[in-house]
Amino acid sequence: MMSDITKQSLSELVENIKSKKLSSSEVTKAFVERSEKSKELNTYITEDYANALNKAKKFDEKPNLDLKLPGIPMAVKDLFCTKDLRTTAGSKILNNFVPTYESTVTQNIWNEGAILMGKLNCDEFAMGSSNETSFFGNVQNPIDKNLVPGGSSGGSSSAVAAQLTPITIGTDTGGSIRQPASFTGTVGLKPTYGSCSRYGIVAFASSLDQAGPMAQNVKDCALLQEVISTYDEKDSTSIDFKRNEYSKELTKDIKGKKIGIPKEYRVDGMPKEIEDLWKKGIEYAKDCGAEIIDISLPHTNYALPTYYIVAPAEASSNLARYDGVKYGFRAEGENLIDMYEKTRSEGFGAEVQRRIMIGTYVLSSGYYDAYYLKAQKVRKLIKNDFDDAYKKVDAILTPSTPSSAFKIGEKTNDPVSMYLNDIFTVPVNLAGLPGISIPAGHDAKGYPLGLQIIGKAFDEQNILNIAYAMEEKINFKNNIIDWWIK
Ligand code: GLN
Repeated sequence: MMSDITKQSLSELVENIKSKKLSSSEVTKAFVERSEKSKELNTYITEDYANALNKAKKFDEKPNLDLKLPGIPMAVKDLFCTKDLRTTAGSKILNNFVPTYESTVTQNIWNEGAILMGKLNCDEFAMGSSNETSFFGNVQNPIDKNLVPGGSSGGSSSAVAAQLTPITIGTDTGGSIRQPASFTGTVGLKPTYGSCSRYGIVAFASSLDQAGPMAQNVKDCALLQEVISTYDEKDSTSIDFKRNEYSKELTKDIKGKKIGIPKEYRVDGMPKEIEDLWKKGIEYAKDCGAEIIDISLPHTNYALPTYYIVAPAEASSNLARYDGVKYGFRAEGENLIDMYEKTRSEGFGAEVQRRIMIGTYVLSSGYYDAYYLKAQKVRKLIKNDFDDAYKKVDAILTPSTPSSAFKIGEKTNDPVSMYLNDIFTVPVNLAGLPGISIPAGHDAKGYPLGLQIIGKAFDEQNILNIAYAMEEKINFKNNIIDWWIK
């Protein structure tokens, strides 16, 4: 049955296509039909269903079953440039932008046989924690229609949780893969900086941005990471290191692994549910044979203010290219300067304008030393904290977020409370480390809560293994009833 197809994990779908129990057309049709019935969630910005079905048909005519994602349909965050298919970054200013090139990460995915179904909603230029800054409207969390799906990869988390796509990719600058994964009961991995190419991804903050997989389970996440992580000459920050076949080398044997618990993550006002979840997580890790060690990351407190200087600074520079001349939307003006001003005032939303103003301010002469340079120095201290901790431990366990998913509209008028949601995720980006969020429990209302496992640089295999072992013990079940399907 069709509905059964969309319930399958990526690994099951790959297996069923390889053994010819299912065709790519059957699988693609099932996900397309379910996506069509799920418009209310507003996960898609651009649908490409007819093309997807065509490609599936072509795949079935000449199937290459040696590929890693043979004929698997998939929708991706609308921050990845897709050749000949509109790419908006959730912004009015790119409303009509059709790239003439493909991002490396998506190209890697198509090279392994997957098929693009469409582009998923996200916060404008990936700035946000709730998907409410998108020009294309907010996204609903399939757990409950009044809840945000997290952000900025909110369309991605919602689509995976609602089974509109078997897997997806998001981007994570300060938490945008891990936080939405946590809010929707799904798994999300932010790889080491330099692991996945940034070529063809609409830039937000270039020293922090990373693409990564989002999935229903750890194994699927490992498989997708193995596909997307490649060295790429087109990205000068891409790193040439030996990449594992993460899914093949996945093991639940984590006996003797040392897992650090940073005391600074016990933040003031943290809800008891989060504290309890963390304690449970520690017990699960012990059950798996891990050794728990208390550690300190003394500069954690400075991570958020540092991030909210560095990220806007880089954003203000990256976004200077949107001037109405080369890309997308243009407003008419009386002269060139007037046209620039009107284009940028009308084309960018409020959050993006706020970031551009903060970024321009902290980079301006007179304030550069006081803010930007200072932030860079603190960033180094945060990185040093992790380096010190990793002399004693193999990985670090923390909650993914300081709360479960909040209500749509709850934080839109209070940017600072929105920014506070990133408290556990941003240090990882500042230090360039890999981190994975796995669903680990529910709060009193039945909303999912996630745990984060942070690794050493390039040690994705280790955190995937720990996540894989813990996932089995946790045995998480997502409470999703298809309320949006009429
Ligand atoms: N919520 C953070 C921000 O708004 C992180 C976003 C991201 O990771 N893209 O900047």
